[in-house]
Amino acid sequence: MRWPVLAPVRRPRGRLTILVTLSFSPLSRPHEWGHDTHECVRHVKLAGVTDRLYYTDSYLREFRARVTGRSDDGRRIYLDRTAFYPASGGQPHDTGVIAGVPLVDVEDEGERIAHLVAAPLPEHDTLQADEVDCRIDWDRRFDHMQQHSGQHLLSAVFVERFGIATVSFHLGQENSTIDLDTATLEPARVLEAERRANEAVFENRPLGVSFEDAAETRDLRKPSERAGTLRIVSIEGLDRSACGGTHVARTGEIGPILLRKLDRIRNTVRVEFLCGGRAVRRARADFDALSRVAQMVSGALDEVPGLMAAQFEAARNADKLRRKLEADLAQYQGRELYAATAPDEAGVRRILRRLPSGNLEDLRAIAQSFTAQAKAVFVAVLDEPPAVLLAVSADSGADSGIDAGKLLKAALTQAGGRGGGNQRMAQGSLPSLEALEQVLSCIRIS
Ligand SMILES: [Zn+2]
Repeated sequence: MRWPVLAPVRRPRGRLTILVTLSFSPLSRPHEWGHDTHECVRHVKLAGVTDRLYYTDSYLREFRARVTGRSDDGRRIYLDRTAFYPASGGQPHDTGVIAGVPLVDVEDEGERIAHLVAAPLPEHDTLQADEVDCRIDWDRRFDHMQQHSGQHLLSAVFVERFGIATVSFHLGQENSTIDLDTATLEPARVLEAERRANEAVFENRPLGVSFEDAAETRDLRKPSERAGTLRIVSIEGLDRSACGGTHVARTGEIGPILLRKLDRIRNTVRVEFLCGGRAVRRARADFDALSRVAQMVSGALDEVPGLMAAQFEAARNADKLRRKLEADLAQYQGRELYAATAPDEAGVRRILRRLPSGNLEDLRAIAQSFTAQAKAVFVAVLDEPPAVLLAVSADSGADSGIDAGKLLKAALTQAGGRGGGNQRMAQGSLPSLEALEQVLSCIRIS
């Protein structure tokens, strides 16, 4: 569809304003995900159509506008013109204040922009005064401008250096991502893209906005499928993209660009990036975290990876040694217990170890050591959670016909428990202390 193109009009305040309106349906453009934006605009001013001031001036922070409509509850406000950016094209919405009332959301309805306010506007401001004072939250907006402009630059750099296109992008609360049309991305390319993007920042190249007829527009990074007038955002010598978002005036304002995490998403690689203030805040947080680690290992920041690797190696060795010492200790304890236990009439040494809580595994090595000797039966009991372990010596099993696995399994089944084992050692868990006592009396140990 072709829209009529009107000549730019001279507004009362002397500022040259080009009246433009997005022509796509807001429903077709989920606000969280951009498609490396294609925006179509028309130069026409119709009654009831919101004049989008941000199209021609991204730096407009305060303005006055006439209230042209509102919902019954007064929470949805329509203005004749607005600098508030609605969530669209991958860029989040602005916030701010209208007539002193906080603005919480801005929605693109196609022809009009809806401003969702925290409370109805004061009567005297909208009835007696024709216009209301509006102020956008500049910190939030400028952050979006840095991230969004940085995205254009980064996407352009990936095309310039490696011929890799951007499929989509996302500007999030904490960080932003671009999805690149490639199955893999070598670390060297990530470094080169980051270096080149920052180089373009240092070159402080101007960004410009122009309105061009789609049929005659050339050299777009991504060809637009839209007809009519396109809003073209360009970075001098680097990029030309159809986009309706807000951008900085020069690349220097984007600030530092950091590439961070990479994720493979189906056939694309998602690259997380941070620009400007976000990059500085992230670098500060990284430095603080790394400094704390450096302090722990008493080293300089750059030595942390080496020192941590050495610490982990030392911890692994210490753990290995601890496990060996525990096994040795259990051996001694088992033998000592055996020596200190008097045999019964049949010459069998029986012992029961009971723990109120913990883990039966702690007693397994002692049980093994105890029953490694002649004519020995070892029972370990845990009250919480109720569990039992039965170990018998080889001769106890073979000579007296005790099979630890079969004996315990039968007792456990009778008491509603679960478990089992082999002839020499078996283990099981019970649903209650009563069931545990039942098992103990069953194997005639307690
Ligand atoms: Zn853009």
